[in-house]
Amino acid sequence: MSLNIGRIIGIPVRIHYTLWLVLLLIAWSLAEGYMPQHYPGLGVTTYWAIGIVSAIILFVSVFLHELSHSYIAKKNGLPIARITLFFFGGVSEMSEEPKNAALEVRMAAAGPLTSFLIAIVLGSFWYLTVLVSGPVPIIATLYYAALLNGVLGAFNLIPAFPLDGGRVLRGSLWRRSKNLLGATANATRVSEAISLLMMAIGLFFVVFGDFINGLWIIFLGWFIRSGAETSLRQTRLTESLAGVRVGDIMTRELLSVSPDASVQQLVSDYFLVHPHGGYPVISNGKLLGVVTMSSVRSIPREKREVERVSEAMVPYERTVTVSPTTLAIDALQLMAKNSVGRLVVMDGDRIAGMLTRGDLMKTMKARQDLGLWDHTHV
Ligand SMILES: [Zn+2]
Repeated sequence: MSLNIGRIIGIPVRIHYTLWLVLLLIAWSLAEGYMPQHYPGLGVTTYWAIGIVSAIILFVSVFLHELSHSYIAKKNGLPIARITLFFFGGVSEMSEEPKNAALEVRMAAAGPLTSFLIAIVLGSFWYLTVLVSGPVPIIATLYYAALLNGVLGAFNLIPAFPLDGGRVLRGSLWRRSKNLLGATANATRVSEAISLLMMAIGLFFVVFGDFINGLWIIFLGWFIRSGAETSLRQTRLTESLAGVRVGDIMTRELLSVSPDASVQQLVSDYFLVHPHGGYPVISNGKLLGVVTMSSVRSIPREKREVERVSEAMVPYERTVTVSPTTLAIDALQLMAKNSVGRLVVMDGDRIAGMLTRGDLMKTMKARQDLGLWDHTHV
């Protein structure tokens, strides 16, 4: 659904297919509709040139908007996993939530402010070009580009998740109440009200003739609704692990495997007997690596008798390790980032235990069931 286009300030950037569609749609509708209507008398090539240049400007504008969020995040030590550009802006996927309310507000506000700034700059150029009676195609392009950025900034200020305005709202509520979960729940309620209102308005448009615009509004309403729910779920998750450290929940009694055992032995003596999905490979008290079900699955049955565990395992250099004092939520993010289901817990150069995704899920479920949330955040 998304295409990687490279990295900027160290963050991978992807383009969602909706952005391509909208860029094409904008170029086409400007060239065939808007421009000939508002600036008659230009050639077909000129209209298309205006359309294409405007689409490129829109792309750059969306990109700068998103980059401003990521820039503020990075500057404040908040890692951004990747940026995905959508038609209305983008989503900077933070691998963690902002640590304080003021930062969340600043980060969210940066995007619309950038869009308004671009609108003002382009608007000034437009004004100057009009003053000196410059070429009409340039006047038309500048006007439309300034307008688009103004709309982009305004749309993102709607106080609904996952739009920037929704984050500003949550940050402000959070700052006042010092309760992240409560603030998220309230901001989500506002978002749901707005999304329902948008869908109702969209439906009204569809019924009374403006089919295309009506569909757009319904779609945006639906988008806001699902985004708000995802945010709430994410926050619940973070909250339910607040204050928990790896050492509190890891598995300590480990069965280890010798590197010289055959893969067949590993299957029959470990995987078929014990309920674990992976084992540390240890020789003379030293951790050599980790062997998991998926390391075994890739080896054909007939080779399992001869193949050694040492050949099948993920070697130590490539195992993802944490320390017992690592926060559980950081461990969860580390698993997602590396696409692994278990982490080796190292206490210095001694193996202290293993932590699996299952361990984390069990903890979260238990804490949510018991209502053991740390509600206070500063
Ligand atoms: Zn934004």
